[in-house]
Amino acid sequence: MELDRKIIYLKGVGPQKADILAKEFDIHTFGDLLYYFPFRMIDRSHVSKVADFNPEEPYLVFRGRINNLTTVTSGRTTRLEATFNDGTGNLTLVWFQGHKWIRENIRSNVTYNVMGKPTLYGNILQLVHPDIEPVTPESGHITHPFMPIYHTSEKAKNRGFTTRTIARYTETLLGQLTASLPETLPATILVKHHLMGRTSALRNMHYPATLQDWQQAIFRVKFEELFFHQLEYQFSRTNRRNHSTGLIFGIVGDRFNNFYNQNLPFPLTNAQKRVIKEIRSDMRSGRQMNRLLQGDVGSGKTLVALLTMLIALDNGFQACLMAPTEILASQHYASFKKMLNGLNINVELLVGALKAKQKKDIKQRLEDGNINILIGTHALIEDSVKFARLGYVVIDEQHRFGVEQRAKLWQKSTPPPHILVMTATPIPRTLAMTLYADLDCSVIDELPPGRHPVLTVHATDTKRAMLFNFMRQQIAQGRQVYVVYPLINESESLDIKDLMDGYESISRSFPMPQYQLSIVHGQMSAEAKAYEMDRFKRGETHIMVSTTVIEVGVDVPNATVMVIENAERFGLSQLHQLRGRVGRGGEQSYCILMTKDDLNRTSKQRIQTMCNTNDGFVIAEADLRLRGPGDLQGLQQSGMLNLKVADIVDDEPLVRITRDEVYSILEQDPDLNLPENAPLKHYLIKNNDPHQWDKIS
Ligand code: ADP
Ligand code: MG
Repeated sequence: MELDRKIIYLKGVGPQKADILAKEFDIHTFGDLLYYFPFRMIDRSHVSKVADFNPEEPYLVFRGRINNLTTVTSGRTTRLEATFNDGTGNLTLVWFQGHKWIRENIRSNVTYNVMGKPTLYGNILQLVHPDIEPVTPESGHITHPFMPIYHTSEKAKNRGFTTRTIARYTETLLGQLTASLPETLPATILVKHHLMGRTSALRNMHYPATLQDWQQAIFRVKFEELFFHQLEYQFSRTNRRNHSTGLIFGIVGDRFNNFYNQNLPFPLTNAQKRVIKEIRSDMRSGRQMNRLLQGDVGSGKTLVALLTMLIALDNGFQACLMAPTEILASQHYASFKKMLNGLNINVELLVGALKAKQKKDIKQRLEDGNINILIGTHALIEDSVKFARLGYVVIDEQHRFGVEQRAKLWQKSTPPPHILVMTATPIPRTLAMTLYADLDCSVIDELPPGRHPVLTVHATDTKRAMLFNFMRQQIAQGRQVYVVYPLINESESLDIKDLMDGYESISRSFPMPQYQLSIVHGQMSAEAKAYEMDRFKRGETHIMVSTTVIEVGVDVPNATVMVIENAERFGLSQLHQLRGRVGRGGEQSYCILMTKDDLNRTSKQRIQTMCNTNDGFVIAEADLRLRGPGDLQGLQQSGMLNLKVADIVDDEPLVRITRDEVYSILEQDPDLNLPENAPLKHYLIKNNDPHQWDKIS
């Protein structure tokens, strides 16, 4: 069977249904349908009696007749009700939508399997939007002991398109599947991990004979999914290592040495030294470096970036640093300028706020090779930005970058520049294994000396007077304070209003001229933001009231208090990021999490986690667990984590197993030339960017 065949060619699928399948389910081909898996199996062989109705049960199957279809209107809602009777008692069936279809299709002389979550409405037993299948002579005998339940959408249901419809299609499709589909996994792997064969697994995903078969099918499908994810990423890494030539930075010269000997603001930590060595050894290996640098907030990643950039310069190349926001880019620019003072190195800043003429001028000088280090935002990847000799790219605080986007940077110059991706959001191990399987990894696991861990406390509004007193004390000691408001959506005027209300109340309690306030939010111009940030940085203002635009990377060592308003509205890693804005100097710092009184359970756990630990990795793991996989959607949408069945939290052991298997396969057969690895090569050719293959095929 051809999996690429258009779904409209499946028996029973007309143009209308094909349209629904495409729009609502993203199912376009036979293969898409085959891989559209049910999320639940209903045991048809176990039929419950209405007399034994138990509202505690999650899902039950009843068998009987449906009568008395009646439309009931109450208030503005209309619902359709029917009486279901199985000889032991009555149930009320309720539909709020899709009435027309029900009326046209339900017959009083037909026996149905009626399935759903039983509920008790007053003392009426009911099933709302039950799943229904007729027990007719054709379908009545139990061909499949389990009925698959598929996710459907409201829109589809309203057009009479239910889980039953999908089940009918998968049944037809599997009926046509007479020969086996090509196996995708190597035989040795199948044997070693006791995996069900592909064809059999796909059948059992939809119509298992036993629950155990279903479980085994799920295991196989998850295995396959994680395995191929690993293969794609790891292959990209080995391929690059073995086949792409990297720039060779053979020397460490004057620029590095002069800076190191004359301008280094403080001795490096051991972790910083180790990481610089790792990068240095990549840079002279003859292979292109693609390295992830993980280090908790404040661990001193910027200095590592700067020092390694100087190596690129010493070898006659340009370097660039890309930051996610203009504020951060400007800040890096300022600190680079300061650190490199007197060393005759040209550093420039390229951000959207510049005038067209300035931009043009910078681009020209860049192309002429007159700029050594360029700092900027995403704008740096634009095609119009051309380097004379780009040798090294550092991406700061950027963990939302997929393989493909990273590849864009490699193409800026040939051979591709070395790349360092720095992130302060510690990534849980499983996530790192999955998202960054194509990168080598370095970790700064040590903070610069003399840091006191930030003290974190939780408070509610009743403590506001105390909070303000505390802020006054700190300011009297010469310290500065951040007050941060959540910003869920930049355009939401409500968020801005919160911020403005807060700002006003703070202004009243901290009057001028004794106290100077800064305010920064997303609706200000980049210039105005930078101006306010500068004032705060120079110590001219005492309190910075802002939305989360300051979240990433802002560095004002004199700030010792971080007040986070409505802290319950922030995610854990965001809270941790914000907290990382203080505790950057030698003084004891504080993080105060202000929340409303009645917190739900997960909010409470988040706040507690923050109060209990400063360890970014502990927080990252907790975050992943608390948010659960459903919330990883941001990642999934960015196309980085395209997992349909596997769950990187629950399936962590499987993530490890597949990673190790792929690793040893590629170690033995890096170009996948062995006959037994042919299916793997085939998969990559089919799914990968074809030009990557030019080099090896
Ligand atoms: P992050 O890793 O969060 O980007 P930064 O690079 O901004 O951290 O560094 C945080 C602060 O620590 C900065 O003020 C920086 O100057 C300082 N710092 C960096 N390295 C050291 C060091 N080895 N000793 C003392 N302070 C350092
Ligand atoms: Mg930083």
